[in-house]
Amino acid sequence: ATPTALMVGVGKGAEAGILIRGGEYLERAQALNTVVFDKTGTLTKGEPSVTDIVGENKEEILRLAAIAEKGSEHPLGEAIVRAARDKGILLKDPEKFEAVPGQGISVTIEGKDVLVGNRRLMQANGIDIGGFEDSLRSLEEEGKTAMLVAVNKKAAGAIAVADTLKESSAEAVTELKKLGIETIMLTGDNERTAKAIARQVGIDRVIANVLPGEKENVIKKLRAEGKVVAMVGDGINDAPALAASDIGIAVGSGSDVAKETGGIVLIRDDLRDVVAGIMLSRATMRKIK
Ligand code: ADP
Ligand code: MG
Repeated sequence: ATPTALMVGVGKGAEAGILIRGGEYLERAQALNTVVFDKTGTLTKGEPSVTDIVGENKEEILRLAAIAEKGSEHPLGEAIVRAARDKGILLKDPEKFEAVPGQGISVTIEGKDVLVGNRRLMQANGIDIGGFEDSLRSLEEEGKTAMLVAVNKKAAGAIAVADTLKESSAEAVTELKKLGIETIMLTGDNERTAKAIARQVGIDRVIANVLPGEKENVIKKLRAEGKVVAMVGDGINDAPALAASDIGIAVGSGSDVAKETGGIVLIRDDLRDVVAGIMLSRATMRKIK
């Protein structure tokens, strides 16, 4: 690999909005055989909105959930707060607030214990969700993320949130497959929702229910199996996974953390640039040989 050819390649990438932070990444990209995508904010736009509320008193469920999520920086929490504000619901501050990464929120509101989150959060607090399991499942089949709301240790309802796929996601996956590259979705969301979305974009393999701190280990395990792995993410919850991959690819609208961690940064929020980066690498390396 002549340094000049690599420099030319890096320059071509930059012109196309593909920032390659060192010739070694350009060299490595042609060897990739696995591309792992984060779901929220990477395959999807990361702007979820509330679609369904399940329970006896829907407005009260939304109100309690929104108060709980007021201090949350999670896109799911922001969607719930926005839905409540749009309905003109007054949101006071909770008395106590705790975010549980990969699970949800635990708060005290008006003296009541309120939990908003997934099955794992409910299980950890010994809450029976029996009556809501069927609703959760059907929402998840539609690719929605359903969160349970429990009040004083009793399941009171559920709120579902849906995110839209980026226009470029399906095409990027199709093109990667044509290049013989395996595509995987990695997410903290539940398996049913993840699979429904994976089906829409054509991803064959889903690794779901992964806690934020474990995403990095999933990448390490794939590499230990001999795969050459790119992790594509927005940096929210997945910066260590980007760093643990052969090439971390940070997507445009993502966090600053992602941009600092990524070996490749995509300036435009278009996943087809993942394919373009690999093609550029293959073309550059062909010239060198
Ligand atoms: P992702 O991998 O999609 O970015 P996370 O690891 O952040 O997901 O979260 C995984 C799951 O934990 C979510 O799908 C949701 O069920 C639950 N969760 C996380 N944060 C919150 C929150 N603030 N409110 C409710 N549920 C949450
Ligand atoms: Mg994400």
